[in-house]
Amino acid sequence: MSPEKRADLKGFSTRSVHAGESRDKYANAITTPVVQSSVFVFDDTAEMKQYVAGKKNRLEYGRYGNPTQRVAEEKLAALEEAQDALLFATGMAAVTTALLAFLSGGDHLVVTDDCYRKTRVFSETTLARLGVETTFVRAGDCEALADAMRKNTKVVLAESPTNPHLYIVDLARAAEITARNGAKLLVDSTFATPYNQQPLKLGADLVIHSGTKYLGGHNDLLAGVVLGAEQVVGPVRDLQGQLGPTIDPHCAYLLLRGLKTLALRVDKHNKNGLAIARFLENHPKIERVYYPGLDTHPDHEVAKKQMRGFGGVVSFLVKDGLEKTLLFIDSLTLPYLGPSLGGVESLVYHPATLTFNDLSKAEREKLGITDNLVRYAAGIEDEEDIIADLEQALRTI
Ligand SMILES: *Cc1c(COP(=O)(O)O)cnc(C)c1O
Repeated sequence: MSPEKRADLKGFSTRSVHAGESRDKYANAITTPVVQSSVFVFDDTAEMKQYVAGKKNRLEYGRYGNPTQRVAEEKLAALEEAQDALLFATGMAAVTTALLAFLSGGDHLVVTDDCYRKTRVFSETTLARLGVETTFVRAGDCEALADAMRKNTKVVLAESPTNPHLYIVDLARAAEITARNGAKLLVDSTFATPYNQQPLKLGADLVIHSGTKYLGGHNDLLAGVVLGAEQVVGPVRDLQGQLGPTIDPHCAYLLLRGLKTLALRVDKHNKNGLAIARFLENHPKIERVYYPGLDTHPDHEVAKKQMRGFGGVVSFLVKDGLEKTLLFIDSLTLPYLGPSLGGVESLVYHPATLTFNDLSKAEREKLGITDNLVRYAAGIEDEEDIIADLEQALRTI
């Protein structure tokens, strides 16, 4: 579908349902088929020649894309209002391939701290081994970002909201600082989704999402996506063709299905997140709540300016230390205990135990991962039930 046609689909949910989908589908089906094929064959050598010369837009081999994936990419591009989109097998494949596409030995990378754990590990180990130096700056501190820029800074990778503290980066300011330095701004917008935030409109060069979270939305798939102008996505696509972390056709189908209800789900996640944050903020057994929708959050004004809603993830500190925190988590009956976020089922987890267990307590605390930190990723259950469950669990401690 051409970008002009995409613009005809004005509303976000209309685009969620219809963008990228041809009306003329295999066997008159209403849904996009899962095209389970690794090869896409040619009629004759003349067609092959046309294709190689770029005169025919079609597929060739599954590592370079499949038809179900293409439809999901069109839909995502329409939702993020991006010229181009490229899907990956996982969010980390999207993050690492994008970084490798734009960085070489001797280059400098700036990453906002409080970032996804494996993104930090990739910068500190693999990129360091290849001769790329990384500076971490406090998310939300644009002065620190400006100070960190060097002549050889090629990429700034910002997450907003961040994980797990839900800090907010002023994306328009970050884009301006990055562009002034001739670098590229990549934004991991997973926690926001294209429904809550559109970094490209604020000047970002590339948006990245883990599709595993809100985009898929049902805790049943792994996916990643990068979105931006064709000339920015192009080098990432070339490198994906070499590295091979392509999305599987069936997974692309599940993602397509999830995307159709994105706005409905995210509205509910936003509502639940805010309700949980408000409830916990006033609870005597809670020390502190991190949620950008609260007016006590340090980045609330920036969040309001650049976001439609604030998402379903709420992090908070339980009073009186580790034992009480673990007892509280184990007393919850509604959420599942585990990592991840963005699915219909609520999930709760203890970052210090699961994700940061390889660090010493002192190292964890430097990252703000204290023993009493809990991350609650609200699903789409009813707000009253989530709050009642939190209330009874807090009574046990
Ligand atoms: C989950 C997540 C990733 C990694 O995505 P996977 O699909 O698990 O590989 C990257 N960034 C953020 C912010 C995430 O939440």
